[in-house]
Amino acid sequence: MNVIPSDIDIAQQAKLEKITKIAHGLGVDEEFVAPYGHYKGKLSLELLHNASGKKDGKIILVTAINPTPAGEGKSTMTVGLGQALNHIGKKAVVAIREPSLGPTMGMKGGACGGGYSQVVPMEDINLHFTGDIHAITTAHNALTALIDNHIHRGNELGLDVRKLTWKRVMDMNDRSLRHIVAGLGGPLQGVPHESGFDITVASEIMAILCLADGINDLRSRLKKMVIGYTFHDEPLTVADLEVEGALTLLLKDAMMPNLVQTLENTPALIHGGPFANIAHGCNSVVATKMAAKLGDYVVTEAGFGADLGAEKFMNIKSRAGNIKPSVVVIVATIRALKMHGGAAKADLKQENLHALEKGFENLDKHIESIRAFGLPPVVAVNRFTHDTEEEINVLMKYCRQKGVAVELAEVWEKGGAGGVKLAEKIIQAADEPSVFTPLYDLELTIEAKINKIAKEIYGADGVDFSVEAKKQLERITDSGWGTLPVCMAKTQYSLSDDASKIGRPRNFRITVRELRVSAGAGFVVALTGNVMTMPGLPKRPGALDMDVSEDGNAVGLF
Ligand code: ADP
Repeated sequence: MNVIPSDIDIAQQAKLEKITKIAHGLGVDEEFVAPYGHYKGKLSLELLHNASGKKDGKIILVTAINPTPAGEGKSTMTVGLGQALNHIGKKAVVAIREPSLGPTMGMKGGACGGGYSQVVPMEDINLHFTGDIHAITTAHNALTALIDNHIHRGNELGLDVRKLTWKRVMDMNDRSLRHIVAGLGGPLQGVPHESGFDITVASEIMAILCLADGINDLRSRLKKMVIGYTFHDEPLTVADLEVEGALTLLLKDAMMPNLVQTLENTPALIHGGPFANIAHGCNSVVATKMAAKLGDYVVTEAGFGADLGAEKFMNIKSRAGNIKPSVVVIVATIRALKMHGGAAKADLKQENLHALEKGFENLDKHIESIRAFGLPPVVAVNRFTHDTEEEINVLMKYCRQKGVAVELAEVWEKGGAGGVKLAEKIIQAADEPSVFTPLYDLELTIEAKINKIAKEIYGADGVDFSVEAKKQLERITDSGWGTLPVCMAKTQYSLSDDASKIGRPRNFRITVRELRVSAGAGFVVALTGNVMTMPGLPKRPGALDMDVSEDGNAVGLF
C-alpha cells in the first residue's frame, strides 16, 4: 500500500505557475487580474460583462450522500474532477467556497480538498487568503456600530433595543462571545443592550455576497437587510439607516472572485463560503458565472449532503444567478454507506457487506431527489484505502442494476489521473438533454414550500410548526416576504431532522421550530433544531500543532 504524505506536505511540494499565467491560459488579460502575491489573484467583474454574449460552459454540481462527521470528500472530488477533465484535454474550471478560520484552528480538516487533489497555496487559502472574510467581518461590524450610534444619538427610528436582531461577527470559534451585553459603562458609552457574536460565515452579508450578481445587486440586497424592529413591531432595514453605500464600498474588492490553481495547475475560483444550514452553503454566483464564461466545464460544489446543499443550489442559487447545472455528481463512500447500514463508527474500516447493502437506501433517496430536479445523477465512489475490492464491486453492481451511472474515483491518491473514467462518464451525462426544474414555484406559501421539500427531498410524512413558527409565518407573509425561497436549517447527518435517524428514515415528520427572514439574501430560514452560529473549539484544537518555520513556511496545517 502506498503511503500518502500529509496534505500540507503534498501542497508544499507543488510546482505552482504564476497566477497571471493561469489567467492567461483562460484567455484573461493581465489588466483584469489584481495579483495578491505570485499565486493568488482577484478577477475583475468586468470579465462577466465583457463575456455576456459568450456561450456558458456546462455546470457540474458535486454533492454527496448524508456524510459521516469526517466529510465524504466532496471538495477533494470537486478539485480532482477539475484536474481529471483537464487531464483529458477539456477546459475545466473549479469553483468552490472559501474556508473559514474558526474550523481551521479548531478541528483538523481544511476546505482545500485533500491528497493529490488540492487547491494551492493551501496555507494562504486556509488562513487569511485575500481578505474577503475579513472584509465581511468589517462590513458587518460597521453596520453594528452605525446602529448603536443611531440609538445613542437619540434613536429617531424608534428601534426597540430588545428587538435588535443585528449582532456582531468574527471569524473564529469563540463560544464565550455567543451572548454579551454591549453599551455598559454609563451614558457616554452607548445604550446597554444584549448582543452576541456569530462566526463571520454565518453573517447574512456572506450569503448576500454569494448571491448578488454584481455591485448594484449587492447594494440593493444589503439595503433590504432587517436590523431589528421598532416599538410598534415594524421591521427596520439598512435602507432606513441609509448606509448601504458605505457597506457596499467596504465589500467592493471582496466581491471579485479569487483565482488560484490546483496541484496540477487547473484554474480554480474560490469565492465566498456561507454556512450550509442558516444560509445556502454554495460559493458565489459571480464566481460560478465567471467560471462558466472562462471554461467549457465548471466543477462546483454545495455544502453537506444532497438533501441540504444540492436542494439549496437548485432552489436558491440557481434562481438568484440563473444558473442551470447539467449533471450532478453524488459522492459516496463505502464507510458512510456502512454507517447508514448500522455499522459502528469504530468498525468502518472492516469489510461489512451486510451493512453496506443496507446503507444503499440512503444513496437511493439522493438519486431520486436529483432526478426529481430533471438532472442526471452520476455516483462517484471516493475510494479510501480500507475499502475492499468486494465492497466496491457490490456498490458498483448495485448502481448499474439501478441504471445509474457510477465510477470509482481515486483522485485523492492519484490526482486527475485517478478520475479520468469518472470525467468521461460525467461529460457523457452532461451532453444528454435535460430539463432542469426547481422543486417548487415561488408563488406557493412558505408553509407549502417547506412541506414540499420535507416530503419530496427528505421523504417525510409532513411538517409540524411550533406555535412560535406559526406566528412567524403570518408575520413573514404580512411583511411581503412570502414569495421568497426557503432555506432549511437541518442536521446534515440524517434525511430527517434527527441526526440519529441514519439510512433512509421512514414514517417521520419534520418539526419547524422557528422561522427567520434574511430579506437581503432573499430567503426565509426554517430552523428545525438548534443551529450553532458561533461554534466552540474542541478540547484539543488543531491550533496546538501549528507553527511557522524560520523561512516562513506554515507547519502543522493539516
Ligand atoms: P468534504 O468536502 O465532503 O467535507 P473533503 O474533501 O474536505 O470533504 O475531505 C475531508 C477530509 O478527508 C480531507 O482531510 C481529505 O484529505 C480526506 N479525504 C478525502 N478523500 C479521501 C480519500 N479517498 N482517502 C483518504 N482521505 C480522504
